[in-house]
Amino acid sequence: MSNNNTKTIHDFDFNLICEYFAGVERQGPGSPAVTLKALSFIDNLTKESRMADIGCGTGGQTMTLAQHTSGQVTGLDLFPDFIQIFNRNAEQLNLHGRVKGIIGSMTDPLPFEKESLDLIWSEGAIYNIGFERGLNEWRQYLKTGGYIAASEASWFTNERPDEINKFWMENYPEIDTIPNKVAQMQQAGYVPVATFILPENCWTEYFYAPCHKAQEEFLKKYPGNKMVEDLIAGQRHEESLYLKYKEFYGYVFYIGKKLK
Ligand code: SAH
Repeated sequence: MSNNNTKTIHDFDFNLICEYFAGVERQGPGSPAVTLKALSFIDNLTKESRMADIGCGTGGQTMTLAQHTSGQVTGLDLFPDFIQIFNRNAEQLNLHGRVKGIIGSMTDPLPFEKESLDLIWSEGAIYNIGFERGLNEWRQYLKTGGYIAASEASWFTNERPDEINKFWMENYPEIDTIPNKVAQMQQAGYVPVATFILPENCWTEYFYAPCHKAQEEFLKKYPGNKMVEDLIAGQRHEESLYLKYKEFYGYVFYIGKKLK
């Protein structure tokens, strides 16, 4: 789920957006392989570790994270319907003893003690607060030696065609090049441990393909509903831009460590 539609997400009915995205396994680009790759850069996690997944959605990546770690994981998301699905998924996977979804906004003070977390995770969601602000504000909740791992839209080149530049400037002007994002991470008080570009299949196979099915079902369920048509048109436009301009931008995972 991203705010880069032709109309911003605020122009739509939240309930409809939630219903649409609740019907797909992930709400943004990613894959289990990429979650595990990012996790491979993080050390010192134990049964005592406390982790948070901010903007967790229905928890696709949270469950992967939880299945490959042994501590407590809290998922936080603004939308109650997503959290309901999240907690149901945790239960079905028998993870509910150590994985909990809670409703909350990432732009409010987070419901964690200062210096209490070993890991802050956020896939395709930090843009909601803004990459720099998120890095800066969330740092206080991490222990010394704790990690942040966040995926974020980034430019691959210094120059790019006007059409795609304009699209991003209208929707998320904080998109920037990888070296600039890494510098922001350093500036916010983290050692940049790793960055890597999410492979194309995170968009096509894991995000857009399941969305196609959801789009068709949604149009069938709400025939003639202008808001639904606009929402789907926005999603399709976003996808067509990705396919056209994918060599110029994508999602990048940024992993940083809080040293002191
Ligand atoms: N991490 C998930 C979801 C990414 S989509 C995945 O990769 O599939 C972005 C998520 O951010 C959505 O679930 C949306 O509900 C959530 N979100 C948007 N604004 C938020 C806010 N202010 N606080 C918390 N979550 C928010």
